Amino acid sequence: MTTIRRRRPPKPKLAESRIIERRDITDDLMLMWIEKPEGFSFKAGQYCTIGRDGIERAYSIVSAPHEETLELFVELVPLPDGVLTPLLWELGPGDVLSIRPRAKGIFTFKPKYPNHLLVSTVTGVVPYVSYLRDYLHRKASGHRFYVLMGASYADEFVYDEELKRLASDLPDLVSFVPTISRPDEERNDGWSGEKGRVNTIVEKYAEKYGLSPEDTLVYACGHPGMIEEVKDRMAPRGFTVEEERFWKED
Ligand SMILES: Cc1cc2nc3c(=O)[nH]c(=O)nc-3n(C[C@H](O)[C@H](O)[C@H](O)COP(=O)(O)OP(=O)(O)OC[C@H]3O[C@@H](n4cnc5c(N)ncnc54)[C@H](O)[C@@H]3O)c2cc1C
Repeated sequence: MTTIRRRRPPKPKLAESRIIERRDITDDLMLMWIEKPEGFSFKAGQYCTIGRDGIERAYSIVSAPHEETLELFVELVPLPDGVLTPLLWELGPGDVLSIRPRAKGIFTFKPKYPNHLLVSTVTGVVPYVSYLRDYLHRKASGHRFYVLMGASYADEFVYDEELKRLASDLPDLVSFVPTISRPDEERNDGWSGEKGRVNTIVEKYAEKYGLSPEDTLVYACGHPGMIEEVKDRMAPRGFTVEEERFWKED
């Protein structure tokens, strides 16, 4: 009797991606532009899996799919907890990372709702920047984006200039509210904007903008505690909340 062995599909090979540019924003936040391997495609809001020395982690992609490079916004998790990020902090232009050939993730723009309330903490803004760049590139219409962005310090927003510009140039498309949770600290001197954690202002702005569960999808991305609170506040009001957690709370 002959036995027929089923062949397992071969594991997709890791590709390589060279770091093109690195920009340090604060001691623990940086932007990185890396090469997009040939044939690498993704939807706005998806993530890539990059690695170094065999250690791999997921990073949401800031760029829109039409852009030539992959732009990443990375927060350092210092030693002894962090594993890949301390290694990334040693790298710069010309250094090579591994990259999985396929992007993944379902935290993508859902066009069936006209309104999109996008709530983030620090690096959690990444998918939203990708949605907006892609939306503008596609010259799409019929939707509105309300971006609420939280951080401890004003210098952690990073994409605030891009979002402010969009909100000012296209007020019928984008509204943008950055908020800081530590207004009394010296590092935030001169801040005159919204204060408090981003999860505590979600209901206020949903009301101010006249958003209803029927016409609005809420997205929450970044700090797991923020995501939980946004769900606790918005789900009982009937809103559907999409979430993307970058890490788990111990
Ligand atoms: C879908 C997805 C998308 C992601 N996108 C991004 C992104 O755009 N930018 C980004 O910086 N990270 C992102 N992450 C997190 C990233 O994958 C790594 O976990 C992170 O960079 C830390 O890597 P590490 O190897 O240094 O530490 P890890 O070994 O991954 O984590 C060490 C410990 O730190 C915790 N941790 C991880 N990240 C943080 C954090 N930011 N703050 C506090 N504690 C943390 C972990 O839960 C763990 O307990 C994403 C994760 C997922 C699942």
